[in-house]
Amino acid sequence: MHAAGIVAAAGSGLRLGADRPKALVELAGRPLVAWAVDSLLAGGVHEVVVAVPAEHRDEFAAALPGVTLVDGGATRTASVRAALGTVGPCAVAVLVHDAARPLTPPDVVRRVLGGLEAGARAVVPVLPVVDTTVAVGPDGRITGAIPREAIRRVQTPQGFDRRILDEAYRRLPASAELTDDAAVVHTIGVPVQTVEGDERGAKVTVAHDLALAESQVRR
Ligand code: C5P
Repeated sequence: MHAAGIVAAAGSGLRLGADRPKALVELAGRPLVAWAVDSLLAGGVHEVVVAVPAEHRDEFAAALPGVTLVDGGATRTASVRAALGTVGPCAVAVLVHDAARPLTPPDVVRRVLGGLEAGARAVVPVLPVVDTTVAVGPDGRITGAIPREAIRRVQTPQGFDRRILDEAYRRLPASAELTDDAAVVHTIGVPVQTVEGDERGAKVTVAHDLALAESQVRR
């Protein structure tokens, strides 16, 4: 199955407090985005398109020699939409990944591809929730408990039958802003299969996450 990868790397990373786009922040001497591209390729993806902030394109080109780049948009949804438009014609599957998840083990990529090969049209890696989970009202008071057995944390890469993802984005209003691509295909009623994620694929959002990733690499 010919699979293409999309890496969403056009975010600013304000919460990380860095002097450059988050995807260019270095982990053990390499930009986060380079780690993310490598884990897709190591897991069996054949080609990769990276959505980058237009004003930093030259720096991304230097960090990712030979990788196809597209200008991202103002939201993650817009960035993935832009990248999807340049995925090559051979791809029958598309895996969408966050540049902010540099240490996703290739096994997770393989599990997502395996789900698609087994016939699922959408596959996402998930993890259980270990803490007690509650809903909180605007006054800061707990309004009710959410049974944790029924919920999961969703990671990337998320894999899709290419035609399904194209169709879902085609039908999605231009202004739509969703936090992942499972939510995009959900809008057209496509069932989404889950596979096991991995704690090492955690998203780097704040400085503490980067410190954790550094210690993971050292180990
Ligand atoms: O902000 P958040 O960490 O949820 O972003 C997830 C991923 O989406 C990041 O890798 C980020 O670079 C990407 N993104 C994007 N275009 C945007 C905003 C975020 O590609 N406009």
